Amino acid sequence: MPIVDIVLTPLEAADPVLVRAAAAEAAGMARAGGHQVLRRSIDARSRQPRVRLRVRVEAEAIAEEPLSPPVLPDVRTAPPVIVVGCGPAGLFAALRLIGHGLRPVLLERGKDVRARRRDLAAINRLHIVDPDSNYCFGEGGAGTYSDGKLYTRSHKRGDVEGVLTTFVRFGASPDILIDAHPHIGTNKLPHIITAMREAIIAAGGTVHFHTRVTDLVLREGRVHGVRTADGQELLAHAVVLATGHSARDIFRLLHAKGIRIEAKEFAMGVRIEHPQSIIDRAQYHCDVRDPHLPPASYSLVEQVDGRGVYSFCMCPGGIIAPCATAPEEVVTNGWSPSKRNNPYANSGMVVTCPVPPGADPLAMVELQAAVEHAAWIAGGRRQSAPAQRMIDFVKGRPSADLPDCSYPPGIVPFRVDQLLPPDIAMRLRAGLKAFGSRMRGYYTNEAVVVAVESRTSSPVRIPRDRATLQHVQVEGLFPCGEGAGYAGGIVSAAMDGERVAMRWRGSWGSNGAMDGREVRCIPILSIRHGRGTHHYEAHHPAGAPGTQWPAVHRHGLPLRPGVDRGRQGGRWPMERLAQALVHAQCPRASAGHLPSIQGRGMGGQHTAVR
Ligand SMILES: Cc1cc2nc3c(=O)[nH]c(=O)nc-3n(C[C@H](O)[C@H](O)[C@H](O)COP(=O)(O)OP(=O)(O)OC[C@H]3O[C@@H](n4cnc5c(N)ncnc54)[C@H](O)[C@@H]3O)c2cc1C
Repeated sequence: MPIVDIVLTPLEAADPVLVRAAAAEAAGMARAGGHQVLRRSIDARSRQPRVRLRVRVEAEAIAEEPLSPPVLPDVRTAPPVIVVGCGPAGLFAALRLIGHGLRPVLLERGKDVRARRRDLAAINRLHIVDPDSNYCFGEGGAGTYSDGKLYTRSHKRGDVEGVLTTFVRFGASPDILIDAHPHIGTNKLPHIITAMREAIIAAGGTVHFHTRVTDLVLREGRVHGVRTADGQELLAHAVVLATGHSARDIFRLLHAKGIRIEAKEFAMGVRIEHPQSIIDRAQYHCDVRDPHLPPASYSLVEQVDGRGVYSFCMCPGGIIAPCATAPEEVVTNGWSPSKRNNPYANSGMVVTCPVPPGADPLAMVELQAAVEHAAWIAGGRRQSAPAQRMIDFVKGRPSADLPDCSYPPGIVPFRVDQLLPPDIAMRLRAGLKAFGSRMRGYYTNEAVVVAVESRTSSPVRIPRDRATLQHVQVEGLFPCGEGAGYAGGIVSAAMDGERVAMRWRGSWGSNGAMDGREVRCIPILSIRHGRGTHHYEAHHPAGAPGTQWPAVHRHGLPLRPGVDRGRQGGRWPMERLAQALVHAQCPRASAGHLPSIQGRGMGGQHTAVR
């Protein structure tokens, strides 16, 4: 199986016949029957950009086997784990939990990807921001309507290949497995996210949209479940908190409950947009981009006065997105369709914001919020964004007019240099000048500086134990993904979701018990009826499930067989409760001899985590 590295022109690299011939020649073969590209990158360092390929070449044809969706086990009756947040961290945690025989219960404050589109249109056209459904909140999380760049700097913290392969299994182009800088594109991500959700549900997991978590159920240093905005209380043995970097209400909730969070460094600045042709000319050293080359991107970094100034989330052929998560704030980010065929190139240009010594845990959240609110006022108290031409920004003068810009709600002229905190504006000015001397045409008044780019990463860390990945104070609570401070993009968030879910591998016994110890099969069942919600738990000794009924607890207190009834005044005897609980919680223990929990005497609505 010879594997060779070849360098071709963009035109040659686009032709499979030429690629195979070049690979055969490099391998010293007279003729090749098949080839497979393993790696592809663009080398634009020389005057003539080249495509570098790593190719496996064979004498015979290579049978291409498309990756099919993963086969997931049926976890319909397995122990539940609550996953809060349906972004990459939550989705990948859910898939991995299913792989380990657990039943994820995904709670998402936003809407499914389709319904979410209407709310994005409302932001773009009507300037209305729904605090539960926007560019950051909703199915797929902040990554759904993004460029879908799938690169990460973290190589050690998980299996990048595994995450990319999972995306392909759910419908992404296999190209992402070979491209040095893979991306999916906004138009394709929703289908992939939908396929993931359907697979989770088909396996027995559940996904609840419009379900905002507002509180944690805590007892004796352990999390027992969550409360939601619509008054439900859902119980589970463990809660994965994957709520993203914009869930300020969650940060405030944890802080108010005395659950430790820490202020975290993040970066803030502006989004800059150039005509794509300027970036193509600079990067490809040409007047007009070769049609076989993708729109060019850039990555720039400079140290200014001890702090980093760098480009962030560059979107070639993209659109600047309005990413506020609440009314009265303006926030920018960027996205691109899979073809990256818009005439603009945008990128965040940000400065690191270190945490001042002794800062309050929410200090960086407040800094972020204050600048975003100021941008909203500057933009005319709408989603229009304040903007300035690049050289005007650097020279500290107003822009008489602005160039065309992709930002859908529109931009208005404003002294962005005066809007930003002075330490950030000063470094951005110096950084932009430096980048101009490094990249031909970059420093130009054809470029527009749009405020404000502030959601670059989480301004808070939710500390967790390195070994168990549980919160340092709260057993059973697993802070996860970007919001908790353990990821900085789609791939790293997905990897962190998998890591957290994998912590359970081997630690659940066959009956859903932890470590084979005496078991509390938590939670279990919440039964809502006219007068409120009752929570029941099953307790049974390890090794014995299936041979005896569990003891049943209601609201943490044991019910006495023959004395207490499952539901006050109802027709629900203890035995039936026990059956229901075992069925709901310990499927393998109960297999074969337990009835459905639906039935006579069930009474109220079953709102258990299922
Ligand atoms: C416009 C845009 C473009 C981007 N482009 C890229 C890119 O090209 N490449 C890249 O790697 N990254 C990109 N990112 C960043 C990337 O999307 C995030 O790093 C990633 O989504 C983080 O994943 P997560 O699962 O940790 O959190 P999120 O994706 O933020 O998901 C958190 C989820 O939790 C939900 N939630 C929050 N609070 C609650 C609550 N109280 N109850 C229930 N649910 C709740 C939210 O609705 C959300 O769906 C982009 C982000 C944006 C906004």
